[in-house]
Amino acid sequence: MGRSHYDYLIIGGGLAGATAVKELLLTGAQGSIGMLAAETELPYERPPLSKDFLLDQAPRASVFLLGERVYREHGVGLHLGTPAASVSPGLHLVTSAGGDEFEYGRLLIASGCAVRRLRIPGADLPGLFYLRTLADAEALRQAIAGGGHAVVIGGGFIGLEVASALAQRDIGVTIVHRADRLFERFASEELCTFFERHYLDHGVHVVYEDEVRRLEGDGRLRKVVTRAGRTLPCDFACAGIGVEPGVAYLDGSGIEINNGIVVNEYLEAGAPDVFAAGDVANFFDPVFGRRRRLEHWDNAITLGRLAARNMAGAREPYAGVSYFYSTVFGITYEFFGDMSGYDEMVTRGSFDRKTAALLYLSGGVLKAALLLNRSPAERRAVKQLIVSRQQIGSLQEQLADDHFMLERALA
Ligand code: NAP
Repeated sequence: MGRSHYDYLIIGGGLAGATAVKELLLTGAQGSIGMLAAETELPYERPPLSKDFLLDQAPRASVFLLGERVYREHGVGLHLGTPAASVSPGLHLVTSAGGDEFEYGRLLIASGCAVRRLRIPGADLPGLFYLRTLADAEALRQAIAGGGHAVVIGGGFIGLEVASALAQRDIGVTIVHRADRLFERFASEELCTFFERHYLDHGVHVVYEDEVRRLEGDGRLRKVVTRAGRTLPCDFACAGIGVEPGVAYLDGSGIEINNGIVVNEYLEAGAPDVFAAGDVANFFDPVFGRRRRLEHWDNAITLGRLAARNMAGAREPYAGVSYFYSTVFGITYEFFGDMSGYDEMVTRGSFDRKTAALLYLSGGVLKAALLLNRSPAERRAVKQLIVSRQQIGSLQEQLADDHFMLERALA
């Protein structure tokens, strides 16, 4: 058991943590940098894991963020397979599960989320997969190679992306989804119909308004039984039922936890010299005037960078517009902002023509937009409209007119 000291210590070897390391190096921050990662892999990107990696179009080596050499050449202390077990902000000390002690000058907590697991009979049967880590994706890819039929449990981002990849690999797929439509979270009939057709065209069967009650098999998963009494035979299953902030090790640290680590717009947690970023950070978003915790790729990069700059003394507030994208059956859509509490939705273009936008407004102010194959100018305009919070409610008719350029709505 050893003791080390880092001027900048990062807990978490995911995208937010690795981005913070990169930003500290790029900005020439003075001082030593160390990273504790629970996994034994170098930090990697997750977006390919549920898409190109499963399609066998992204080799393993392509998912890593920085090569091992970069960390070594810059003297970054990389402690893989070293999960943090406790944090003592008063002592500026982190202790690992193996009992090693790490003193820090400034600490970034970017330990992310852990996959939510099914807690039902049969959930321990081999043949049930999750998709969160590179190891998960490799195990699923191996199952795909065996062919057959899969049940996808949950119709969220993972469920929809994995089902798309499996169907493209000629695996028979049944999705068990709680809601009555796929993509229901975007609240657009036209969008639901558009995407559902792609699943249908690829032979994907969807069981709506149902959920899984038990898994059965003879030493290996063979059947998924639902609440409505359906029995779905399968060769394997993949569950995507959400993730949860992994913060148990912070109990007793005095760091405020409330749906993740509570940080201000500078990503500072209540304790001195402690910052948080990525999926685990519940940060104040000045654009929407409220706290948010986001579990998307872009957020890990944005917060990782910001935390690094602020740890190095910049004191910049969060000022971006949150963003994510997803790809299913080769179709990528993008989403900007936060649609919660919207009272009006305007559709531009046409999903059938594969160029469309959904604008979500509240009180005449643009809160969020979903874009499918839109111009760079429209992407820019959407972001500016969301940030500026200007009234565009009186432009209803023009907004719905695809010939009206959105940038003209900017004051
Ligand atoms: P998710 O998007 O939150 O979706 C979870 C889905 O599982 C929801 O449809 C949910 O239904 C359902 N569900 C929850 N508990 C269930 C249960 N016990 N039985 C059946 N269904 C259940 O989470 P995810 O798909 O697992 O993805 C994990 C995280 O990775 C998410 O935070 C997501 O944002 C992120 N991710 C992002 C992307 C992207 O940005 N492109 C891609 C992949 C993953 P209800 O809605 O009814 O609760």
